Amino acid sequence: MLTKEKMTTGIECRFGPDWPGQRCGTRTRQGTACQRPANKKNGRCRLHGGASTGAKTEGGRARISAA
Ligand SMILES: [Zn+2]
Repeated sequence: MLTKEKMTTGIECRFGPDWPGQRCGTRTRQGTACQRPANKKNGRCRLHGGASTGAKTEGGRARISAA
């Protein structure tokens, strides 16, 4: 069932300035803190979370090899 809580489409434009959740907080090139919501496990936003480190599991690595 698709509930309101599980909807992730447009999630980054849904958080206003009064959103009480955790922010990314990374200092931007303008010198201000990044206001995007930290919705990843590392506490950073989608832009500041860093690059992917690739497949973690054996199954994932096998799928890449097969591709
Ligand atoms: Zn950020």
